[in-house]
Amino acid sequence: MAVVIKVKHKEKIMGRLRHGADLLGELSEICKKEKIQLGRLEAIGAVQKACIGFYNQEKREYQFITIDQPLEITNLTGNISIKDGNPIVHAHLTLSDSSGKAYGGHLAPGTIVFACECMIESFDGSLLERGFDQETGLPLWTVQE
Ligand code: ZN
Repeated sequence: MAVVIKVKHKEKIMGRLRHGADLLGELSEICKKEKIQLGRLEAIGAVQKACIGFYNQEKREYQFITIDQPLEITNLTGNISIKDGNPIVHAHLTLSDSSGKAYGGHLAPGTIVFACECMIESFDGSLLERGFDQETGLPLWTVQE
């Protein structure tokens, strides 16, 4: 059975991240400051370097790669839910290099902002809490009663 909830739009926040900030850290910080526990986010911009993850389904662990060069954020899409009682940002992004070649994956710490514009939408609704999922080994959503 799929885990679904109904959400209602609460508010939207638009902003620009700091040059040199950790992309995931900065997005998490904004959500914490604005008390967002449920929502979605998107961003475009550029990074100085990137660290992205790929979940190895067989080994049940993330493998990370660092791309140590300037890249465009052609798209970042993510969501905000609860893990261990705190809001957590989960985001995936696509990046492009000077030749237009794309890289993509799970946003990890170590991705450093050059310039970034983001949009965060918060929702009212039941909270989605992440809990360990036996089938995948991932912290997936469960619905809080
Ligand atoms: Zn992910």
